[in-house]
Amino acid sequence: MANILLIQPPGPAHDRMKDRLTAWGHDVDAVDHAAAALERLDARKPSLAILDESVNDLTSEEWLAALQNRELDTFVLLITPKEDLNRAMNLVTRGAFACLTPETSPEQLRDLINRGLETQEAYHHVVRMAADLKEANQRLTREQGALKDKTEKLRFLNDLSVRLSATLDAVELARTIDEGLERWIPGGRTVFLAHVPGEPDLRLYGAPFLSENSVRRMAEALAPGIGVESIDRIRFMGAGQRSENDFPGRETLSFPLTAAGRRFGLMVLWSETAAAPDPDLTMLLESTALLAAQALFNAHQHEQALRLASRDSLTGLFNRRAFMELLGREFGRHLRHGTDLSVILIDLDHFKSVNDRFGHDAGDRVLVQTARLIEETVRNVDVAARLGGEEFVVLAPDTREEDVMILARRIEAALDQAPILLGDVHWTQTVSQGVADARHIMVKSPQDLLRWADRAMYQAKADGRRTIRRASNLPKEKPRKEPLYAW
Ligand code: GH3
Ligand code: MG
Ligand code: MG
Repeated sequence: MANILLIQPPGPAHDRMKDRLTAWGHDVDAVDHAAAALERLDARKPSLAILDESVNDLTSEEWLAALQNRELDTFVLLITPKEDLNRAMNLVTRGAFACLTPETSPEQLRDLINRGLETQEAYHHVVRMAADLKEANQRLTREQGALKDKTEKLRFLNDLSVRLSATLDAVELARTIDEGLERWIPGGRTVFLAHVPGEPDLRLYGAPFLSENSVRRMAEALAPGIGVESIDRIRFMGAGQRSENDFPGRETLSFPLTAAGRRFGLMVLWSETAAAPDPDLTMLLESTALLAAQALFNAHQHEQALRLASRDSLTGLFNRRAFMELLGREFGRHLRHGTDLSVILIDLDHFKSVNDRFGHDAGDRVLVQTARLIEETVRNVDVAARLGGEEFVVLAPDTREEDVMILARRIEAALDQAPILLGDVHWTQTVSQGVADARHIMVKSPQDLLRWADRAMYQAKADGRRTIRRASNLPKEKPRKEPLYAW
């Protein structure tokens, strides 16, 4: 059944045609002049229009043009007064489906209508197929894009995991991830907040640009209560790698860092936009947090192992083994590049009497306190260590004997100003110090350097204690064969 518009002058032919078409099951709209035809055309958009050319105010050419202007796919049968092959061809070229004459039989007409409808249906089918094809093509392009994107994300994670396993330096790890993620969150910054085993403070990696409040909020999320009273409980790691001006905004995305079944930190992304990442990006960020957690955890474990192996358990200063390693390295630098290097050997005066008078625990407290004062007094580049018993040493790179004397005097003054309460006695611990310079004529090895410092220290003891002596003022004879400590 089709929707047919019939345009034919009023009369018996019109009525016959209308009845016939209706009898064939079509929905027929019959009009007899041009204005009505155009109005019905717009209102009904018929599948088929049959125009009898004897309607005198509408020519076939005008009708075909009207259809073309409207981009309708209505197909047209024209009833021309007489058979004229040339004209019929002309009209078909302009878009008519076929031309009939009043003599065309009803069977022929019916046949033409059916064929026309079939052609039209086939055309619609093709149009639908083309549209489907176009959509499928677009979908494919989209999927290809998505696949490419997924592949790139996987490759990124793979590369990242290779790069993260290349270092055990936590600051370096944090920086690598920060720089890597910038590709996916343009302008974003990634920071890490973490508990480190054996450390009371939280560590914040790579975030000098954050305000105190932001840091506090992050700390609160990781360890409720910790960041609230004081920001002092946060250690800023790798600070300075970003400037304040780089601060990208206030929106954050937070991912837990979990390793060995424990949540020990947070990976926090700061970006300009609040938009939630799509599922693929979320997957990437979650995977990055997993890699970050594993890498940071390993780095922290490694650090702790190193710390335990190189620190004196009572005072927390470097132990003898670690010190000798550092001294060897510095001495090598001195030999290769002619850099300066001095040491101070520090021995507590009459320390045995502290133990005897106040007990061993009190003695321990004096050692801890003295170590702390030494460490606080020396510069950042200097290395303080406990060589053993009540004997400490300071390694001062790029420093000459006359300058390291200043350091030794500062240590002496610091001790004078900080008496320790032992029972009800304010105990002022004094020390004897010996300084030596690697440029000393008799110094050929790190061991020599320590021997000469040791000799100077013994000179200080001999000169009454609580004093400082310089190796360069000692007679230049061979140092004792048997030093107090076997280096
Ligand atoms: P001097 O002024 O000549 O250096 O006298 P001194 O008493 O400090 O030197 P001495 O070598 O006779 O004694 C060192 C003492 O340090 C003996 C030892 O019991 C004590 N000592 C060494 N290690 C520790 C420690 O870890 N804790 C405590 N409490 N005492 C220690
Ligand atoms: Mg001693
Ligand atoms: Mg002593």
